Amino acid sequence: MATKLVFDGDLRLLENKTIAVIGYGNQGRAQARALRKLSKARVIVGNIKDEAWERARADGFEVYSIAEACRIADVILVLIPDEVMPEVFKKDIEPSVRNKEFVVVDFASGFNIAFGFIQPPPNADVVMVAPRMIGAEIENLVEDGRGYPVLLGVAQDVSGKAWEYAKAIAKGIGALLPGGVGVISSFEEEALIDLFTEQFVAPTIIATFITAFDVLTQEFGVSPEAAILELYASGEWSRIFRDMAEIGFFEQLRLHSTTSQYGQLSRAMKLYLNGELRNRAREVARYITNGEFAREWILERMAGYPVFRKLWKTVKESRLAQEEDKLFKALKRR
Ligand code: NDP
Repeated sequence: MATKLVFDGDLRLLENKTIAVIGYGNQGRAQARALRKLSKARVIVGNIKDEAWERARADGFEVYSIAEACRIADVILVLIPDEVMPEVFKKDIEPSVRNKEFVVVDFASGFNIAFGFIQPPPNADVVMVAPRMIGAEIENLVEDGRGYPVLLGVAQDVSGKAWEYAKAIAKGIGALLPGGVGVISSFEEEALIDLFTEQFVAPTIIATFITAFDVLTQEFGVSPEAAILELYASGEWSRIFRDMAEIGFFEQLRLHSTTSQYGQLSRAMKLYLNGELRNRAREVARYITNGEFAREWILERMAGYPVFRKLWKTVKESRLAQEEDKLFKALKRR
């Protein structure tokens, strides 16, 4: 297991290089600012001409069109939304790097390479440095001199140093500061665990909360206010999830009463052992790995997001959303 973990990278690989951060959103802003602080590279930004462009200028970066930034760069960090990436890559990035002798192209997620939506040019090392952290939190951590986890991958290694570039970028964006770690992974593994967490773990939690709210309030006379505060609005779960990460998944249970520990463990083990969840987990993982989900999502986008919009309408009109609205207004959270 220890061989999968990376704690250092050689920043000299980025010295005197021009790094173009393409996209100045959640990840782009955090990674560009960390690189400027931690590496000796020239960090420039490539963006469409909009608010993000202005923000990058205000933060003191040289800002160029995406095509121009890629023409200038030795290392390109592609940090635009995954769904627009294939088109932007084909139109603005690939033509700008095609005639270079060599370029490093870095992605923060595995999706487009893993499912073949982007074909990298043959003169590029293609690496992945995928933070397990939102951009704003990366900024806070780097400010405090602390690192965070990243998954590392290599899809194409023309220089023979692609893994070293991935580690150097991880170090440059602050991931390998104390407390942080890189994990040797792959574009495919990152795409799978990212989508799997979104499509198996999160839906199980969401469906459980809605069901709990319905049954408690409609069948057992619990008030919506009490149910919502108990289920999530108190913020207790954020504390529990932080304790899982810091103390340990099971060890944090000791902070709860013995009645609670017994109730949680006895019922969880029953669910775990009956096999139904495991079958659903397998189904979700298979649907992702065989490319079915990627196809479903592309078709949904091509059709103009009809199902996605309907899902949002359904949840916004649900009893839970409406009761939450009343409660949050009373609590002045809205
Ligand atoms: P954001 O949506 O925050 O920002 C993307 C940037 O791309 C913005 O500057 C945006 O400009 C620009 N952009 C949007 N549409 C286009 C377009 N059609 N053409 C050109 N530029 C465009 O993205 P994230 O930072 O969330 O995601 C970037 C990458 O990082 C993705 O691969 C994602 O999977 C990965 N990632 C994201 C994490 C996160 O915390 N969000 C965590 C880990 C990985 P504007 O805002 O002006 O439209």
